[in-house]
Amino acid sequence: MVLRQTLLAAARSDRLRALASGTRLTRGVVDRFVAGEHAEDAVRAAGELAEKGILSSIDHLGEDTEHPSQAEEITKGYLHLLHRLSEAGLTDSAEVSVKPTAVGLALGGEGPRLAADNLARICAAAAEAGTTVTVDMEAERHVAPTLRLVASLRPEHPWLGCVLQAYLHRTEGDTAAVVSEPGARVRLCKGAYAPDPVTGHTARRDVDAAYVRSLRRLMDSEAYPMVATHDPRLIDIATTLARRFGRTYDGFEYQMLYGARPDEQRRLADLGARMRVYIPYGADWYGYLVRRMAERPANAAFAARSVLRR
Ligand code: FAD
Repeated sequence: MVLRQTLLAAARSDRLRALASGTRLTRGVVDRFVAGEHAEDAVRAAGELAEKGILSSIDHLGEDTEHPSQAEEITKGYLHLLHRLSEAGLTDSAEVSVKPTAVGLALGGEGPRLAADNLARICAAAAEAGTTVTVDMEAERHVAPTLRLVASLRPEHPWLGCVLQAYLHRTEGDTAAVVSEPGARVRLCKGAYAPDPVTGHTARRDVDAAYVRSLRRLMDSEAYPMVATHDPRLIDIATTLARRFGRTYDGFEYQMLYGARPDEQRRLADLGARMRVYIPYGADWYGYLVRRMAERPANAAFAARSVLRR
């Protein structure tokens, strides 16, 4: 718990971000969880997964942009990526995931409008390429603005996906609201950010129980559930709930992160389930990677070993 909190605080540190980005010590760890620095690396990873019957959602790494020009760079990165996915014939299997603060949401005054404009451009390019977009969910202060952002774009792009995080108390209410929109694509995850004990569950078992309650609600609805977890118990529960509510394998999907439980990804895909892997790429990997270490002591141990080996 203490390690998790320390790592989640480190994930937000600009000083550590600058330090880590300037060193090659972390390369082994980066390679395991990040497809590479360039769009081409992500396209290659998506192609390799597609050959195994696995879908993907590609994230151009970056978050908390501090200037509109950075948000513009990231938006252009997505437009280029979608173009390349289309050229590679991968838009049947690969979509994109976008962090709202990467496209400007947290820039203050004009931030929400800028993020909406940038996301609308990405959605238009995705629609033209024949694929979809899911909007990631970040730290708690961004949740309400992010849900508003998604709601503002859904009338034009009904397939625009959103993410709900089980660790937040508000999520059961948000789930109830979102399932009233038939066809809404909803990724349910535990949540990768530090919980505030007033507004979120801090104990793992409480997060897991809340996950199951929201999952049940999603499965028993006309929404399209995207079950994002590596947790074997929750995966079994999702499978059971899907059956109970009469969903076939094309009525929901499992999602996991690039580099996490590849054998299980393959197993689920081989069963005929829709299995989607979240593929991050880009140079700004610091926050993403430290959150992965906070989730799992084994990831932090792997990082420590790769540093010591040098
Ligand atoms: P954990 O509680 O981390 O692990 C439970 C159990 O699962 C472990 O005890 C272990 O048995 C098994 N396990 C977990 N990881 C592994 C592994 N690598 N190898 C082997 N076994 C393992 N969070 C957000 O806040 N916003 C987002 O937008 C977001 N998007 C996501 C998208 C995807 C596709 C996924 C998979 C996760 C996303 N997350 C997001 C992260 C998520 O919130 C969790 O932090 C992360 O998935 C870890 O939680 P878990 O459900 O996998 O279970």
